[in-house]
Amino acid sequence: MPTNNKSLTNDEVLRYSRHLILPEVGMEGQLKLKRAKVLCVGAGGLGSPVALYLAAAGIGTLGIVDFDIVDVTNLQRQIIHGTGDVGRSKLDSAVESIAAINPNVDVRKFETRLTSANALEIFRDFDIVMDGTDNFATRYLVNDACVLLGKPNVYGSIFRFEGQASVFATKDGPCYRCLYPEPPPPGVVPSCAEGGVLGILPGLVGVIQATETIKLILGSGESLIGRLLMVDALGMRFRELKVRKNAECPACGAHPTLTQLIDYEQFCGVRGQEKQPPATIGDMTPEELKQRLDAGDDLFVLDVREPNEYQICNIGGHLIPLNDLPKRVGELDSSREIVVHCKMGGRSAKAVDFLKQAGFTRVHNLAGGINAWAERVDPKVPKY
Ligand SMILES: [Zn+2]
Repeated sequence: MPTNNKSLTNDEVLRYSRHLILPEVGMEGQLKLKRAKVLCVGAGGLGSPVALYLAAAGIGTLGIVDFDIVDVTNLQRQIIHGTGDVGRSKLDSAVESIAAINPNVDVRKFETRLTSANALEIFRDFDIVMDGTDNFATRYLVNDACVLLGKPNVYGSIFRFEGQASVFATKDGPCYRCLYPEPPPPGVVPSCAEGGVLGILPGLVGVIQATETIKLILGSGESLIGRLLMVDALGMRFRELKVRKNAECPACGAHPTLTQLIDYEQFCGVRGQEKQPPATIGDMTPEELKQRLDAGDDLFVLDVREPNEYQICNIGGHLIPLNDLPKRVGELDSSREIVVHCKMGGRSAKAVDFLKQAGFTRVHNLAGGINAWAERVDPKVPKY
């Protein structure tokens, strides 16, 4: 919508007056914001506050990449979406919220999954990329594409009560790979769907990302380049770690070996944060479990979730959280047939592996966990 990037209209002067009277922003700074093009990868927990604040601040062009649909479990933290948006595309919902806040923003929509095939093409037109992704594969992809194109990567990540933020891939600064050369082994770091996240935390971290973005555009202040800011919301402590550029970094080092984007799913071990693990031999479907319980078969149901999850809902299984299983395995009778479940089937698959190694032969994993049971067998059980 904005056509004139050389000056502000009278309406814009009034709208941004609290910026204009700051000498550090002023007319020159506000015009820099108006000319700036920022890409938000993700319109979720982190993308919500970033997009809302950047729009309010007067960023001229805001790109958003997201292919997801608003789900009711998103609303606890993804404040760009409302209750009435459940079932809509996140992108459409986000665009509407942005337009309501500031119709001057030119929003560019990318309703697609970010991949190695499209990332460079999408990033090319933007000055700064904001990483609001929730999985390692996309995080490495965003970083590498930023390094290859020489665009700053304003990074943030959240889990449970802890968050991180930094600015990577600037000309002389380190990149995400300088800090984390290798992704964690698949399954070691649970997703927010499995591990939970305090709804306010992405607000806290996203606002830090938005602040860093504005400072990069204005060219003022002290940026998070070379520093990893770590937020502990529970203790309300902010710590920082120096991050040095690694001369051996495959992406941004002196002799980079990474000259094009790779297969990030493979690099991170195919895992898919929110996806349910594929069914394997020995899996039991919720329907099968129901049928066998109704028939009076002797089945021992083992629930490997946490006690607070058991309080949300349970199907009367014996509760031993996955991490306690090694020391409490003696509570189980290896002669009985055991069906293990968790929320979605990931932790229970690990429990089944553990029990098989421990000599149990008659163990099954409930495919899809208690959420699948709630969906397909007993709708009275709440999904979470
Ligand atoms: Zn690097």
